[in-house]
Amino acid sequence: MKNLFRNNIKQMNGYTPGEQPKDKKYIKLNTNENPYPPSPKIIKILKKFDYKNLRLYPDPTATSLISAAAKHYNVSENNILAGNGSDDILTIAIRAIAGENDKIAYPTPSYSLYPELTDIQGSLRKPITLKNDFSLPKDILSQLKGTSLFIIPNPNAPSGNLFDKALLKKICREYEGIVLIDEAYAEFASDTCLDFSDSFSNVIVSRTLSKSFSLAAIRIGFAIAQPEIIKQLSKAKDSYNTNMLSQLIAQSAIKDFNYTQQNITKIIATRNNYIQKFEELGWNIIPSETNFIFAKPFNITAEKYFHQMRENGILIRYFPGKNTGKYVRITIGTNEEMNSLYKTTLKIMEKN
Ligand SMILES: *Cc1c(COP(=O)(O)O)cnc(C)c1O
Repeated sequence: MKNLFRNNIKQMNGYTPGEQPKDKKYIKLNTNENPYPPSPKIIKILKKFDYKNLRLYPDPTATSLISAAAKHYNVSENNILAGNGSDDILTIAIRAIAGENDKIAYPTPSYSLYPELTDIQGSLRKPITLKNDFSLPKDILSQLKGTSLFIIPNPNAPSGNLFDKALLKKICREYEGIVLIDEAYAEFASDTCLDFSDSFSNVIVSRTLSKSFSLAAIRIGFAIAQPEIIKQLSKAKDSYNTNMLSQLIAQSAIKDFNYTQQNITKIIATRNNYIQKFEELGWNIIPSETNFIFAKPFNITAEKYFHQMRENGILIRYFPGKNTGKYVRITIGTNEEMNSLYKTTLKIMEKN
């Protein structure tokens, strides 16, 4: 066959998103969605919206959304760029920073989109294997030598733990490339590195409305960094990368953060409650700073547990592989959903 596509694309399998099944009703704890609805203030915005405006292009730089976001994150407007989800921020950063055959580093296990975006760009993968407790290896800085971009989720996914902040700071200070700290779960964590985006000229922090704000459907995320970085990133984005309705919905949700904060508080309480319950069953749970837990089942393999949960109508996530295959990732749902998960777990463990 004639060579119609770039080799790096042809060799890819492509990213597999978590299941969104339509065959029957599941308790869906597999993609870290928020179990609670977003701010009800959104209803008013949608009712007021004049459909005739849909003929117009949206604001290319999402000015009023950026203004609301700047207040919320306590930064200046020239410190923020809006994206079509934080996945778009990752794409923009890679486009702007990593050339073909430049190396992109990221921890493994972490978000499996990073190596896929690396392949699309034609850059080279530099996975950095985490220790057994999912902390960073001691020789991280020497492993980062020669790479252009280091993408690190903090808290990490799928393991759920926060990395050592002092070590991250040292990396930002000494690394010669750009560090992108993916803070998709920061609102569920006890600490964040948002302040690094102000103090370092080589740091980008990304945030999303998908998890804590319950707005995965509208695809809004942000890059927060010094103005010079934002200026360069802006050149690499699609002209109209966030749409009109999403800009409006996102603004109103951000301005109603008190509502969102209540959901975050509920999820953290549910998480901590069920971590304790599962630990009492003999499970090993990685300390979670997110809206999910990474858990090693007791007396049953993770893979078997995953399949049996599915048969019982509960979707969770299983990542085969050397350092993840002993665990399942369970999104924290409502108390009712978690109670069903727990009861089904007792049933499965008894039968096993
Ligand atoms: C969910 C997730 C994202 C994607 O967020 P969107 O804003 O929905 O694109 C990014 N990074 C990590 C680590 C995630 O888990």
